[in-house]
Amino acid sequence: MAHPGQPMPTLDSPEMLLLRSECATDDAPWLPSDVWLPQAKRGAWGGGAGTGAAIEPVFNAGRLPFCCVVCKRGGLTGTKLIQCGRCKVARYCCKAHARAHWPAHKHCCAALAGLAKPAAEADWRASLVAARLALRRLPEGDDALQSWLHQPRCAVCGDAASPLKRCQRCHGAAFCDRHRDAAHERASCDAAMLEIACFGMISDMGAPLTIASRSPARAPLPGGWKAYFDMKIWDFEVPAYILSMGPPAAMLTEGLSLPLLVVRFLERRDVPASLVVHVVGAAAPELVGLHRLREIFAWLPRVDELRVQFVGPDLARDRAEARAPDERDGGSVKPVFFSETRAYYHDARRRLRTPTIVLAQHGGLHDPLFAAAWAPTLDLLLDEGAPCVFTGYNEAEGAADAAVLRERGAKFVADAHLNPFRGLRPYSEVAGCAAEFYHVNAYACCVEGRAQ
Ligand SMILES: [Zn+2]
Ligand SMILES: [Zn+2]
Ligand SMILES: [Zn+2]
Ligand SMILES: [Zn+2]
Repeated sequence: MAHPGQPMPTLDSPEMLLLRSECATDDAPWLPSDVWLPQAKRGAWGGGAGTGAAIEPVFNAGRLPFCCVVCKRGGLTGTKLIQCGRCKVARYCCKAHARAHWPAHKHCCAALAGLAKPAAEADWRASLVAARLALRRLPEGDDALQSWLHQPRCAVCGDAASPLKRCQRCHGAAFCDRHRDAAHERASCDAAMLEIACFGMISDMGAPLTIASRSPARAPLPGGWKAYFDMKIWDFEVPAYILSMGPPAAMLTEGLSLPLLVVRFLERRDVPASLVVHVVGAAAPELVGLHRLREIFAWLPRVDELRVQFVGPDLARDRAEARAPDERDGGSVKPVFFSETRAYYHDARRRLRTPTIVLAQHGGLHDPLFAAAWAPTLDLLLDEGAPCVFTGYNEAEGAADAAVLRERGAKFVADAHLNPFRGLRPYSEVAGCAAEFYHVNAYACCVEGRAQ
C-alpha cells in the first residue's frame, strides 16, 4: 500500500477509510502490521541505530529479548544487533549504546556469563533459582535478573542453550532446531510486533501518546474501542496519519484506559462538580501524561474540576496537591489537581479528601506477597463505601482478585469482566516465551461497600 517515496496516507484518505472500516476491531484499532510497518520504517521512530534516547525511568532494561537494551530497537525495523561478547545476554544496536550501558552492566556481566542457560522448560525453574541467588548479591541485581529472564528462548520448549532462529516477521519469537517449523500464531506474532514497535516509539518520541480527546461527548460511552474511535478519531491533536498506525493507537488506548474506567463506573451516577479520584497502590507509570485525565471532562460534562490523589508505597516521593498544566477543552479550561502520597492507603487516608471513586490498577490482591498489606486497605475501602474499581492484567488475575474481595464481604456493582477499554499495548509474559501477552486494565470489577 505505501511505497518508499510516496506520501503517507492520511486517516481521511480513501484507502485509510477503507482500511479502518475493514480492519479496526475492539482488540486492535488499525493493527494490520503489513500496512503500518513500512510507514514506521520510513519514519524516525524505530528506524536505524543508536539515534534514540535511552529508555530510563519507567521500564525494565532487559524486557525484550531481541532488542537493544538501551533504546529497544531491534530487527523489526531493520536494526542489526550485537551481543555482549562476555555474557551473550545483553544486546545492543550499536557500540555507543553498549558503552552507554556498561556502567550498569559491568556489575552483572560476569555473573550472567557464569550462569548456565536453561536447555528446556523443565530446566527453567531450577536455573531461575540459581540465577536469583547469583544475581541478588549484585548492586544492579534487579536489572540483571530482568536481562536473564528475558534472554532469548525457544517459544515452544524454552531452550535458551542451543542456537535459535527468530521469526523474521516479528523478530520477537524464536525457535530451537527441533521447533523451527512450529506454528507461530498470527495473533501473537502481531502482538510481538506491536510491543516492540511501541518501545521503539517511546525511544524516539520520549513518551507514549497520553492525550485526551478535545470535544465533549455525552454518556453513555460506546461499547468498545472501535465505536469510540469511530466517534472521536478526528478529535486528538495528533496528525491523522500517526493515529492510523497500530503502535500510536495502542499507546493511546493505554493512556485513556484509566480515565475511561472512571467514566464507565460514574456515567450513570449523579457526579459532583468537583470529582475526587483516589488511585491506590499507585506507581510511577500511572503518573505519565496527567493531561489524559481530562478525558473525564469530555464524558462527564457536569464535572468542573478533577482532583486525582495517587497513593502507594512504591511512589518515588510525596508531593502536595499541585495543578497540572492547563489545556483547553472545547473553549473552557477546567483544572486538574494531583498529589502523591508515598504510603499505604490505610495509613494515608485521613490526610486525603473524600473520594468519589477509588481505582486500584493491577493491585495483585490475590498475590500472597501483597495480601497482608492489602487487607487493612480493603477493610477501610469497604467500610467507607465509595465505588472501588480493581483491575488485573488478565482473566486469571481478575477472577482471583474478585474472589479476595468477595471473601472480605464486598458488594459487587460489576463482577470481574473483560474491560472494553483495556490498554491495547501488549506486554510479553516472561513465562510464556513471547507467546502470551498481558494488557493494562484487561480485567476489571467494581465493588461498593459491604454485602448485607
Ligand atoms: Zn540502542
Ligand atoms: Zn555482558
Ligand atoms: Zn524448542
Ligand atoms: Zn512472529
